[in-house]
Amino acid sequence: MLEIAGLSVRYGKHTALTETALSVKKGEIVVILGANGAGKSTLLKAIAGICEGKSTGSVTMGSDPVLGLPAHKVVERGIALVPEGRGIFGDLTVRENLLLGANPQRAREEADANFERLIRLFPKLTDRAGQTVRTMSGGEQQMVAIGRAMMSNPEILMLDEPSLGLSPLLAKELFQNLKAVRAAGLGILLVEQNAKLSLAIADRGYLLENGRILREDKASILLHDPAVQAAYLGGA
Ligand code: ATP
Repeated sequence: MLEIAGLSVRYGKHTALTETALSVKKGEIVVILGANGAGKSTLLKAIAGICEGKSTGSVTMGSDPVLGLPAHKVVERGIALVPEGRGIFGDLTVRENLLLGANPQRAREEADANFERLIRLFPKLTDRAGQTVRTMSGGEQQMVAIGRAMMSNPEILMLDEPSLGLSPLLAKELFQNLKAVRAAGLGILLVEQNAKLSLAIADRGYLLENGRILREDKASILLHDPAVQAAYLGGA
């Protein structure tokens, strides 16, 4: 569904991504692993239309070209990003944050149905609808951030380091939530430092190093590969 081919991104003279290719299908979780500075955020930002660098290559959603579109048009094509740091509004309530996510044209008419779907996926949000987001725990805020992206009625959900700053327990809960999102039929493109937890729920993974994809494989194979364990799983 989401297809990336020959995607390169340059910030001035610095090349952050070189000829990357990857795909995400409906109902699968794909994880991108890589060290700091490997180009993971750049990849998600280039797809989402918020990258400051110069992007070349191709990004398509179904048969629609996406690369180079402004961010709001990318959302209209069915791709939503949960940025690093969540991008939610602390002074607004959960309900207000979720409604902001329903602004795209593709979501407006289906806002009620989307909200129902979201509440079924994350029942905890119902009790918290009136709570100011700033007063919530990190895990709850992350759930709101994902919920807000889901309100745009996406087919592909991209998440940049969603477990950052969460306790191990909350990170586990977050990844369980992502499994529920996959079960609802979405494709998920996940950038994560927590290789162990993310590979455990993912279907496939890509290893990104210095802006190049070194390897693609089934997540279960990567998880048990000694070389991957040494490089990304702290030798675990
Ligand atoms: P991290 O896990 O540390 O966030 P990352 O894999 O997400 O790393 P990117 O943020 O994509 O890496 O950065 C890739 C490279 O591009 C880095 O060398 C970074 O310094 C550079 N870079 C990122 N954003 C910009 C920018 N706006 N201007 C110039 N260089 C940038």
